[in-house]
Amino acid sequence: MLELTSIMQRAGHAKTPEEQVRIIVDAISAALGTDVCSLYIPCASGDMALVASHGLNTRHPIVLPQGSGLVGRITTARHSINIIDPDSEPDYFYLPHSREEQFHSFCGVPLVKQGRVVGVLVVQSRRREILDAQGEAFLSTLASHLALLVDNLPDPAVPAVIGNETIHGLAGAPGLAMGPARKVATGDLRSVPEGHCEDPVLAMQQWQTLKAEVITDLMRERHVVEMSLGQSLSTIFDAYRMLLEDPAFTNRIEREIRDGSDLPWALRNTVQFFSEQFLDMEDPYLRARHEDIEQLGDKVYQTWLGDKESTANADPDSEFVLIGNNIGVSDIVSLPAEQLLAIVCSSGAALSHIAIFANALGIPAVMGLQETRPIADGEYLIVDGDLGQLIRDPSDSLIAEYRELIDSRRNLERQLEAEKDLRARTSDGVDMQLMANSGLQADIMPGLRRGADGIGLFRTEVPFMARQGLPSEEEQVAVYRQVVDAYGDKPVYMRTLDIGGDKPLPYLPHVVEENPALGWRGVRFTLDNVQLLVTQLRAIVRAAGGRESVYVLFPMVSMTEELDRCLELLDDACRQLAQEGYPCLRPRVGVMLEVPGAVSLLPFWRERLDFISIGSNDLTQYLLAIDRNSRVVGKLYDPLHPAVIHEIARIVNVANQLGLPVSVCGELASDPVAVVLLIGLGVRQLSMSSARLPLIRSLVRSISMQSAQNLVQQAMTRDTASGIRHLCLEYLGGLERKEQFIPASP
Ligand code: PEP
Ligand code: MG
Repeated sequence: MLELTSIMQRAGHAKTPEEQVRIIVDAISAALGTDVCSLYIPCASGDMALVASHGLNTRHPIVLPQGSGLVGRITTARHSINIIDPDSEPDYFYLPHSREEQFHSFCGVPLVKQGRVVGVLVVQSRRREILDAQGEAFLSTLASHLALLVDNLPDPAVPAVIGNETIHGLAGAPGLAMGPARKVATGDLRSVPEGHCEDPVLAMQQWQTLKAEVITDLMRERHVVEMSLGQSLSTIFDAYRMLLEDPAFTNRIEREIRDGSDLPWALRNTVQFFSEQFLDMEDPYLRARHEDIEQLGDKVYQTWLGDKESTANADPDSEFVLIGNNIGVSDIVSLPAEQLLAIVCSSGAALSHIAIFANALGIPAVMGLQETRPIADGEYLIVDGDLGQLIRDPSDSLIAEYRELIDSRRNLERQLEAEKDLRARTSDGVDMQLMANSGLQADIMPGLRRGADGIGLFRTEVPFMARQGLPSEEEQVAVYRQVVDAYGDKPVYMRTLDIGGDKPLPYLPHVVEENPALGWRGVRFTLDNVQLLVTQLRAIVRAAGGRESVYVLFPMVSMTEELDRCLELLDDACRQLAQEGYPCLRPRVGVMLEVPGAVSLLPFWRERLDFISIGSNDLTQYLLAIDRNSRVVGKLYDPLHPAVIHEIARIVNVANQLGLPVSVCGELASDPVAVVLLIGLGVRQLSMSSARLPLIRSLVRSISMQSAQNLVQQAMTRDTASGIRHLCLEYLGGLERKEQFIPASP
């Protein structure tokens, strides 16, 4: 066990997937005392290629035809073979050039991932001796770890640079884009050579001057961001400043200088020290904050170099895909948004500030992308933010295909945006209310520009997440008031903090849980940290300033006691504010319907609620017991599952009987396939990301209520998600504007 852990840890430090598997095969051979350890993986053709070996000569490419040899037998039979004298087996296949005739024992185990054989791991030995049971078990255990890694290996049949190389990362922000790469112009602090200082007093003065210069720069950039994108994003500059002024940071640099390092080397060591401290933290959000300290380090170093040439100045007119190891908000503040096609970042994930920023700007972003060879400035790239992948060396035909797709999406968007003032009314006269989901100040205007009837879901946790400390009541009032003022009389549904679980706030205590989705999140978290909820409710009521258009939405409510406590706190906040002399109207109140158990309680809650909103993302995860964030079972997550559709039908029926208005604000509300069903089921209010508003408006105008209801009747008889999807696609295919609703993909 110890051996296994140490092998996987060593492999974890490798820079590329190829290096990772090489480390593993070498280590297995050493651990089992075998002469050979080899890994075969299937090519696209089905043949098995040797991709790493300890002990076999791999100078020539070695490929076993599909189904042949012992490796072929293991692939087909999906079980291990552990034998001596492998060459006497009838299906033995001699590998030319491998010199494997010298080996007299063979043990091979399949690598299985999600039911598929994704490789075969083989050990061979000169000794005519079968591998003992313990050895075989060890090999099988490692095979199950390796099965998770081999997907990252390039297709062995495709030479490294033949074109259309797809590299998988994480989806940071949706959309498609292509264009030349431009590297973030940072002084890479990690490449600083060791340097010694002759005059520590002078170096100390230089440090003070440099620090002051960077702080001035940061405050200037903060102002630019605040003006263009709002306060929630500009707070990162305050965080940089705090780090830079932190005595621990400065003391460490000064100590390094006193010990003889020159300024760049002292800076490098200090940044590395603090970055590692963050990386060692268990909390995933805090761990991700090592990005901030590294970005700050690069910025300080760049200022030291006097290399002020920003990426924006490289070629003022051309569009580009911004690439970098650790892109920070401050790297792109001065970039003209219209030239920035996409962002590709080799570190980070969906929670990184830069991904939040890309979403707000409406440009695609791919995060956490582990490229196997460095991307050159000017290299032509295709960025697929929907799938979270990058295509390098795209062939002319693939470029043409994507060009067509991007152009047609753009044309469609323009055409649809021109219809923003048309009513979302079905052909037989039923009006739908189409609202925007929002969370950033930068989202506010796009929603209005696209004709949103209001904000159906304001995720208040987003401004909290983009900060480094809890916002005060005054600060929250300022953020909420911007939204409320921008929407005038249109409704704004403010959801109270939905944090905890997998969305912890870095500056609040975070408990590591076995099942965060079933744990301390939503109102469960805020009712335990009641001061947060009280402050937030006060801020919402104050921002509403007596207007009727502001609603309060409580997330993750599953029990009557929770709802009652939330209402008590709201009443209390209103009472306090009235006493303090604020104009005060108690907002109307609703709950997110995301925990299936809450549905049965709706009749009991009738007198306490003014509306409900179906959170289809979580409702699906809880109804199907499928973690919506899991890479392993993610492929099973499908909100068109019959149980979800039947459950929504039940909720809408109950709500109608009770006279409770009902909306849908999960991703289902922005998917044309599902929207027809939702309309047919009786939902009249949908809330979606603002980019989807024009499309869904067009869909509503293309259908009749009658036909949507007929479709629902048929869908209710299907027992699989694919059956329901097929029906809906057939329906969309029969519409006049069908090409809008069934998007083409390359
Ligand atoms: C949902 O669960 O559908 C929802 C809208 O909430 P969130 O995605 O923020 O959890
Ligand atoms: Mg939810």
